[in-house]
Formats: sequence, C-alpha cells, structure tokens
Amino acid sequence: MSDRPPPMSDGPPPASSPLLARTRAELAAARAALDPRTGPVVLVPTMGALHTGHERLLRAARTLAGPRGSVVVSIFVNPLQFGPNEDLDRYPRTLEEDLAMCAREGARLVFAPSAAEMYPGGKPEVTVDPGPASQLFEGEFRPGFFGGVLTVVLKLLHLTRPAIAVFGQKDAQQLTLVRRMVTDLNLDVVIEPVPTARDADGLATSSRNRYLSPADRAVALALPRALRAGQARAAEGFGDAAAVLAAARDALRAEPALVVDYVAVVDPGTFGPAEPGPALLVAAARAGGTRLIDNVPVLLAAEAAAEGILRDAATEGPGADAAHH
Ligand code: AMP
Repeated sequence: MSDRPPPMSDGPPPASSPLLARTRAELAAARAALDPRTGPVVLVPTMGALHTGHERLLRAARTLAGPRGSVVVSIFVNPLQFGPNEDLDRYPRTLEEDLAMCAREGARLVFAPSAAEMYPGGKPEVTVDPGPASQLFEGEFRPGFFGGVLTVVLKLLHLTRPAIAVFGQKDAQQLTLVRRMVTDLNLDVVIEPVPTARDADGLATSSRNRYLSPADRAVALALPRALRAGQARAAEGFGDAAAVLAAARDALRAEPALVVDYVAVVDPGTFGPAEPGPALLVAAARAGGTRLIDNVPVLLAAEAAAEGILRDAATEGPGADAAHH
C-alpha cells in the first residue's frame, strides 16, 4: 500500500448506477426521458454474463453515443434462440456483476426483462424469417437459431428505438443477418460492428467459456490456432480460399479431441462462397461438450494469381520465395 492520497482529478469519474428497467412499461418511461436531440441512443443487446467482449461493445457504444448521448444495454437470455437440447436452463445468469460492469462503462439504462415480459403472448406465432443465409453454418447446426435471434433483435430495436446498435464480429453470421434484416425491412438504425475480444491465450471470450475445464480449454485453443494458421497463409500473399482452408484444416487435425462442426472461407456480406479480396475464415467446434465459434478476417488472393505465384516460386527454386515475403 502506498501512503499517497488517491488522485483527485484524473481517472474516470465515479460510476453512477444505470437505471434498471424490468418491464416494458419501465423501459418506455425511462426511454421517454432520453432526449435524442442531445445525442444518440446506442443499444448493446446481450444475454448477460458479461465479459471483456461485452466490455468492448459497451466502450464502443459509449464512444458512439458521445458525451451527451446514452448507452442502453439489454440483458435477456432469449428462449426463442435455444434448441430443445441446448443450455437455456444452465446458461449463466450474473445480473449483479453485469450491472456493475454497465455502471463502470457509463451505461444509462439496462433493460433486463423476464421471458413473460418479452413474450407476453407466449411463444410468438409471427416471427422474422431470417432468409436463406440463416440455413448455412450456425443455422445448419442450430435449426431455428437465427429466426429466434432476429425476432428478439427486432423487438429490442422497437422497444428501445436506438439510432445505433452495436454487435460483435465474434458472431459474424449473426452480424451479417442483422444487417440484412435492417436493409430488407428498412429499419431506421445504424449497425456498428465491434472486433472480437480475446484472452491472452487467443481464445475469443464467451459467456460459455466458463463451462470449459482446464483440459477442455487446452483443446479449445486449437480453434484460434487454426484460424491464425489460415490467416498467416493468406498473409503470405498467395493464399486463395482453398489454401487458407487447407492451412486451417491442418492445424485442426493436430488436435483430434476438438470436434469440428465446420470450417469455411466465406463472403462476409452473404456467407456464400468467398471471392478474392476481403473474406472471413469461420469455424465452430466442440471441446468437452462446450460449443465454440470464432472467425478471423482474411484477404484472399485470386485463384489464378495464387497458382501463378506458386508456379513462379517453384520454378525459381529454393530460397526464391523469400522475394515474395
Ligand atoms: P451474447 O451475450 O453472447 O448474446 O453477445 C452479445 C453481443 O456481444 C453480441 O453482439 C456478440 O457478438 C458480442 N460478443 C460476444 N463475445 C464477444 C467477443 N469475444 N468479442 C466481441 N464481441 C463479443
């Protein structure tokens, strides 16, 4: 302990607790008091059990809101997006800690409704059709997931009426589909993406990481390792989609305890086949029963260019490829 007095002027101001709304009526009253003329309302939709990934979203939201705007956080474990054999009942719920993080990060309002409050008519009959891209990848392994996600996101946008909503790039397919919904349904909101937060060992932070035993976690690390291998392959300058995918697959094969659901190189706007240029290397896998998803951006070379460069490197002989780095 130092006997210096605590600093008086620097450091963040003491956090004031955000207002907590548990019902739509409380939310409506609190929302009406936020004046959009002084600055934008920025929504951060979450399922709670907040971690450094959410913290990053909250900080981005605070910056986007500016000194006179407001950050609104929703905390709701949405039953509609959980399959019958998924972890709805055991999904972590840590409201006290979540509120402390929201206070630290300067959120003005937290909406944490019950399921009955969000779905007053019971299971909704009218829902968002998330379109064909929702059937791929995550949608193939979690039928109904994206319909549940887009339905609750649309409801949260209606209830909170933000100018801006922030979403993590960690859930890249979700981000793509939310953007598509905003375009296709003419929603009056700007969607802002936030880069993925990782722990020091490379694992993307997730509320579900707390299910991992130390041994599971060691297995799980093969996922970010494989994504880095794919990214490195692309960064060498002659990685087309097939080469990037092969590098990632090689790295995944080195950890047979990791059960891979999918690994693919996709177009970030559609989740269809990737073209040369900016793309996403996406993957999902299970470590000891815990499902992990992750992705990294990759810059793909054209297929022909990739072949040409490989051919040049081969004909120039050993050592020649140093020129391409
Ligand atoms: P969730 O509470 O898991 O539904 O996530 C709420 C929001 O936080 C979503 O927009 C996620 O994409 C985002 N998010 C979750 N984990 C991370 C992470 N590690 N880095 C960045 N954003 C994240």
